[in-house]
Amino acid sequence: MIDQADVVVIGSGGLGAATAFYLARDGSRHVALVDKHELASQTSPRAAGLVSHARSTDLMVELVRHAARNIERFADDTGQPLEWTRSGSLKVARRLEDVAVLESEIARAERLGLDAEAISPADAHRRNPFLHEEGVLAVARVGDDLYFDPSQVAIGFARGAEARGATLLPRTNVTRVRIEDGRVVAVETDAGTIRARVVVDAAGAWTRQVAEASGIRVPIVPTRHQLFVTEPLDGVHDDLPIVRIVDAAVYVRPCSGGFLWGVFEEEPRQFEMDALGPRFEIADLELDADVLRRAADDVRSQLPALRDAKVREHRGGLPTMTADAQHIVGPAPGADGFFIAGGCNVAGLSISPAIGDVLANWIVQGEPPLDLTPLSVERFRAAPSEERLRREAAWQYRHFYTSA
Ligand SMILES: Cc1cc2nc3c(=O)[nH]c(=O)nc-3n(C[C@H](O)[C@H](O)[C@H](O)COP(=O)(O)OP(=O)(O)OC[C@H]3O[C@@H](n4cnc5c(N)ncnc54)[C@H](O)[C@@H]3O)c2cc1C
Repeated sequence: MIDQADVVVIGSGGLGAATAFYLARDGSRHVALVDKHELASQTSPRAAGLVSHARSTDLMVELVRHAARNIERFADDTGQPLEWTRSGSLKVARRLEDVAVLESEIARAERLGLDAEAISPADAHRRNPFLHEEGVLAVARVGDDLYFDPSQVAIGFARGAEARGATLLPRTNVTRVRIEDGRVVAVETDAGTIRARVVVDAAGAWTRQVAEASGIRVPIVPTRHQLFVTEPLDGVHDDLPIVRIVDAAVYVRPCSGGFLWGVFEEEPRQFEMDALGPRFEIADLELDADVLRRAADDVRSQLPALRDAKVREHRGGLPTMTADAQHIVGPAPGADGFFIAGGCNVAGLSISPAIGDVLANWIVQGEPPLDLTPLSVERFRAAPSEERLRREAAWQYRHFYTSA
């Protein structure tokens, strides 16, 4: 155990580990990366590993491009392995209103120089023969999209940070960030106190608990999300484009000769972390295979293989939703030195190589390298009631492909 650091990062998932890595790589700060569980063991390794470039704002497109660049050079930068494939993606509209969504995404993507275009259902089927034309009204192809092995990202960043001098402290529970006269002075853990003037709350589903112990509100709702990985299927290869079906909110990508696929369900299960108890970890999360079976039924005309494929793995985790589906990144008002990297909105792992880089820069330089005001927690100053927050967060989850 150490008793002092320049920066303490709480949480070794994608967001925290990436921040610790880029801080350690800068070399001007001593960084401690603290996790109450084993390193990189909670929601991050359970993700799908999809990187989507067609986003609803220019800022998000810029951040995703930054993240994709850092993913491609991950192994060189961190010295740790990361398997990734630039497969491109096909986004499918089955309803007229979703055709307009795809058109506006393509227009933004083209304006920002992405490799995006509308293609015919027949062309989509040719590119991914597992996607059938029946009921498909329109398809947007994004050539920039990629996927990666989610189990390698957070641990790779953590090990890369350690190699550059960061101290890793697994199985160390942060109980409170001590704030005196409006600034961070220390982090209290169950193994002792670490004096530090900067802290990053990247505690995933627990981000809110960590912040609230210091009187800071972070309005996010931990929301269960789950996926299946199938046994290998004839004809599946790594380069098949990712498929997303907008209204069904189903996604699928190749995985070890089979498919990995998930769904944003109609009635998502939301969680209150305190109610789960102090010993809860994501491995204890109750999963529900029926949610996925119903989704396979919904898309049976377009993706018939999902209904019949044998399931090899069923996994899930607790990403956190905000009321507007945008992340929460940056300083907490009224607590100098307290930064937040949360509100992942089921897209936090893919963006973590950008958020970590940008946040590290912000901490070292004292100002952000690009304007992140839209992601500030201050936008929620007029905090909605808990009931409204949960309602809006559920809506954002259900409408993932039309709002994110
Ligand atoms: C099935 C599924 C599919 C997904 N697909 C994608 C995808 O395709 N693309 C994408 O970008 N994202 C995806 N996501 C979302 C992605 O997994 C999350 O956005 C991301 O992992 C969040 O990372 P995190 O660092 O915030 O959280 P976590 O990985 O949960 O890390 C938080 C860490 O904080 C630690 N911690 C908590 N409290 C404390 C404390 N008091 N003291 C010390 N440590 C503490 C925890 O132990 C944990 O290790 C998916 C998620 C799921 C579940």
